[in-house]
Amino acid sequence: GTDPLVAAVDQGTSSTRFLVFNARTAEVVSQHQVEITQFFPKEGWVEEDPKEIIQSVYECIERTCEKLGQLNIDLSNIKAVGVTNQRETTVVWDKGTGEPLYNALVWLDLRTQSTVERLINKSPGKNKNHLKPKTGLPISTYFSAVKLRWLLDNVEEVRRAVEEDRAMFGTVDSWIIWCLSGNTDGGVHITDVSNASRTLLFNIHTLDWDLELCRYFDVPMDILPKVRSSSEIYGCMKSSSLSGVPISGCLGDQSAALVGQMCFKEGHAKNTYGTGCFLLRNTGSKPVKSEHGLLTTVAYQLGRDQPACYALEGSVAIAGAVVRWLKDNMGIVKSTAEIEKLAAAAGSSYGCYFVPAFSGLYAPYWEPSARGIICGLTQFTNKNHLAFAALEAVCFQTREILDAMNQDSGVPLDQLWVDGGMTSNRLLMQLQADILCIPVVRPTMAESTALGVAMAAGAAEGVNVWDLTADHLPQVVSETFEPQINPNESEFRFSRWKKAVQKAMNWET
Ligand code: ADP
Repeated sequence: GTDPLVAAVDQGTSSTRFLVFNARTAEVVSQHQVEITQFFPKEGWVEEDPKEIIQSVYECIERTCEKLGQLNIDLSNIKAVGVTNQRETTVVWDKGTGEPLYNALVWLDLRTQSTVERLINKSPGKNKNHLKPKTGLPISTYFSAVKLRWLLDNVEEVRRAVEEDRAMFGTVDSWIIWCLSGNTDGGVHITDVSNASRTLLFNIHTLDWDLELCRYFDVPMDILPKVRSSSEIYGCMKSSSLSGVPISGCLGDQSAALVGQMCFKEGHAKNTYGTGCFLLRNTGSKPVKSEHGLLTTVAYQLGRDQPACYALEGSVAIAGAVVRWLKDNMGIVKSTAEIEKLAAAAGSSYGCYFVPAFSGLYAPYWEPSARGIICGLTQFTNKNHLAFAALEAVCFQTREILDAMNQDSGVPLDQLWVDGGMTSNRLLMQLQADILCIPVVRPTMAESTALGVAMAAGAAEGVNVWDLTADHLPQVVSETFEPQINPNESEFRFSRWKKAVQKAMNWET
């Protein structure tokens, strides 16, 4: 066919994907995926290798291009490339050599806990929400500025590179785009508003880096990337089979999923189940302040002359990661998909509750010192119950976020749109509907994140192969999971869960 195609790099916490979409039908034409190694060098530390990340991107691109060749599809039909990425994960590299100066500090990493405590203690009223008016975020281990602070304080090469004006900071989008748009000398050093709004250095009202915030973290401003809109031509692909194709979309993964699920209107919401779990609700052109532990974040800005769109966000650190933990650390399953069979065999957790607070607790608690807990065990408990309790934990955490979201916005959601790697688990989907007491709606095309950034890239000025006006949005085919259990039963289990959470928060005292 001669339909224009648009490609997306989707660099997630657990894997890298490259997908090519038909810009008329939004169908996936071809794709490739590569797993990413996560390093846990010390308790609470989570790192990834920026070189492995960029190599995985190139590998996915080349393999996908080969597959397109086998389908007799000409690569010249690819009109644009978009980049979506795990957010907050922090990279510092040398602009002269192109070498990373340390491993990437992954968003889940907890090494900055004492840095965070120090920062909170020195802010007025020891208030973790001290920077919230400007940034929409609490001071937490989660966000990039504290990770960058750690690198500046603890890594000699980083400090020296800053002194010698060789250092570049970026979230994973910046690192990838700098690599893809350059030869050995590097390309454009940019980020978009959605990624910038996760750093604690960015003023979400003025849409620019903030001098006062940079002083607060003592971060030199000249190592920061230029902030651009989420949909415009930043540069062109250099060394790959796609050489010359414009790079014209950039969105943090959760923002991309919001776009990919077509949540363009105020009140639209989606929940993405990957390593963590992220519920975002579009609040339109105004940032809405949360009174219930949610974040205010820039959702997207689709073009230089377009207004920014904001979202309320509930972030859960550990969702799919608990399944990976049961596989890798406990060995109770051989594949993550296998957990569904175990949970189905149990049918219930039989009073067992599992709070996977491996990285503290994020929304709505923001408690870095919380730790995981499994309670309610009896002689009867086996690995099947544990599997069930792990999946139920994901559902309870989403329920807490949804309750906070409903309270903040005053308009309860009547159904929840979902996507992400975990949503292939049907038992999880049914359990989620049961715990929320509202229908859960899953599009049959699961790659909302990649689709979202492909749409942003294809709609960019100068590319113009994708139309984001309401009449031209692709049709979404979906499946709905209706709640099936008695709401009283659901409330009872949720109240037990909340008790378990209190124990996870205070287990040391
Ligand atoms: P990310 O974008 O964070 O890398 P993905 O959307 O690719 O995440 O989803 C991968 C996560 O989903 C992994 O943490 C994995 O454990 C989990 N996962 C994948 N398939 C299943 C399944 N069938 N049941 C439960 N969890 C799953």
